[in-house]
Order: sequence, then structure tokens, then C-alpha cells
Amino acid sequence: MIIVMSTGATEKQIKNVIDKVHSYGLRTHPIYGVRKTVIGIVGDNKTVVVENMSGMPGVESIIPILQPYKFAGREAHADNTVIELDGVNIGGREVVVIAGPCAVEDRKQLMDISRRVKKCGARILRGGAYKPRTSPYSFQGLGEEALKLLAEAREETGLLVITEVTDPRNVELVGKYADILQVGARNMQNFALLTEVGKSGHPVMLKRGPSSTITDLLLAAEYVIIEGNRDIILCERGITTFENYTRNTLDLSAVPAIKHVSHLPVVVDPSHATGKSYLVEPMCLASIASGADGVMVEVHPDPDQALCDGPQSLTLEVFESMMQKLKAIAPIVGREI
Ligand code: PEP
Ligand code: MN
Repeated sequence: MIIVMSTGATEKQIKNVIDKVHSYGLRTHPIYGVRKTVIGIVGDNKTVVVENMSGMPGVESIIPILQPYKFAGREAHADNTVIELDGVNIGGREVVVIAGPCAVEDRKQLMDISRRVKKCGARILRGGAYKPRTSPYSFQGLGEEALKLLAEAREETGLLVITEVTDPRNVELVGKYADILQVGARNMQNFALLTEVGKSGHPVMLKRGPSSTITDLLLAAEYVIIEGNRDIILCERGITTFENYTRNTLDLSAVPAIKHVSHLPVVVDPSHATGKSYLVEPMCLASIASGADGVMVEVHPDPDQALCDGPQSLTLEVFESMMQKLKAIAPIVGREI
């Protein structure tokens, strides 16, 4: 159940409604929006008793929610969510291209990439500052130095910046430099981190865990939403299967499946899904055809020398020629780049 309070409901009316719900032994998750407050009700199936609260002052409507994800599902919000960020609409008609290196390595590498991807039509620059590496001996990222370089690249090119935050203690710092906080696949169920990025108020891109179901992903998004942050982008980046030719198995049917049950924008990352640069272009084309709201790809001027994920990184030249094809396919499915 969700109780939607009318625009202009007073604090006292909201408190009365919450107190009433608690008196039934149910828990509440109020989300105080700019215009409206909505109160999620969590408990067992006794939530039906809440229906008789529709006459309480300030209550606009009471919506029963059968989906396990109360706010991320279309039952709570039928229309697509469009996240508007400095003129870039994520989840709208445009297919948003996010491109950049796996990891920020130095100023020249980042600036060369940023200028080129911007020229080709990318809207958001990616680049890892804190890298979640399998081995503690692998390159871990440049930390705040990388964040400063990303901010510099944004300043010069006008691209928005997305970068991963791996630790709840770094959310504030990363939020000072980045436009979108990325929660990586390994951290999809790091609930302390989800709560912290939720509190930050910054848009969040949540990547699907390699062994997570679509429902797990949407429930992880719920942790962010209940902190009052609804600006969430979901990312399909491949899941673990018995297939080992590719790094992961890109679950493309997840794109229309997620969009069927959820209003949140969906982006595909074919770089981490396949692990092979030659598969990135065909999977980007397929992602757009399947209804993705964006693609995220890794690009490097010299993939052989990359400190991280070279085999899946596109050269600047290949990125440029791929963008021509993505721009051509988008209108066929009613989108644009
Ligand atoms: C990344 O996008 O930098 C990354 C590490 O990807 P994932 O979390 O999907 O493995
Ligand atoms: Mn990578």
C-alpha cells in the first residue's frame, strides 16, 4: 500500500496518518517529495486495514501495491521516470551514451577521451576513481585525484560525469565532483552504501549484480528510493552463467522485462557484459533495439596499455564509427542520439 498525501498536506496531517498506520502495527516509509509526500506501508497482508483511512484529512489516494518493490514498480508510478540533468534527459526519447575509460589514469588520457567522445555525441563521461578490483594488488584507481580530473573534463567539455563510489564513507566526497553516483555490480546489495547514496540526493546508477535477479535489482533500488531519492538508473551489465567465452552473459531480455515492471530508466553496459571489444558494437545496437535508455562503453586511446579492462575497451576510432551506426539505428525504434 502507498498513501499519497495531497499537495499542501500539513505536517500535522502527515503525522496523524503515520500515527494511525503505526497503531495498526504496520511500518511506514514516508518519502517527503518537493510537491507531495507519499507514505509506503510495510507489514504483512493486514495492510488492507489502511484502506479505511481514505477519508483522513490530507489523504489524496491509497494505492494497493502487489509488487514486492513498492516504489520502483509501475503500480506505484505508471509513467516512465525521466531524470533531467543539465539538459540531458535520461529515460526520455534520447538514447544517452555514456563513454570513457574504465579507470582515470592521467590528465592526458582523460582529456583525449573526453574531447573525442563529446565530439561524437556522448553525453556523459565515465571514469573510475575508486576501482573495485578482484585482487588487492591490481590498480585501485587514483581516488580524489581522479575525481578532480573528471571535474576538469566536465568543465572543459560540458559532459556530465559518472563515477563509482565503493564505500559509504566516500559518498560525500564523490558527490562533490560527480553528477551521477555509480554503485557497481559487486556492491549492488551493499545496503549501507545504498542507504548512503539514497541520502545523498544525487542521481544514482545501480548496476545489476552478476548473480542477481531482476527482482533483486529492483529491491536494491528500493533501498535508495526509501531514503527519498527517486533518481535511479538501472544498468544491465551481464550475469554469471556457465558460458565462459564472454566475461559475463548479457541478459538483453532484462531490458524490456525491467521496463515492463518498472518506470526507472535502463542502461546497458556491453563492455563489462562481454569483456571483448569486438562484441561491444553489436551489443550496443541490440541494446538500443531492445529499448534501452542508454549504453555505457569503455573507451581508451591505447587499449593494450590500459591499466584496467583493456580487452573490452574501444579505441577512439572504433568508438567514432560505432556512434555513426548507433545514431542510424535509434530513429528506427523511435529514439534519437
Ligand atoms: C565499472 O563500470 O567500472 C565496473 C567496475 O563495472 P561492474 O560494476 O559492472 O563490474
Ligand atoms: Mn571496467
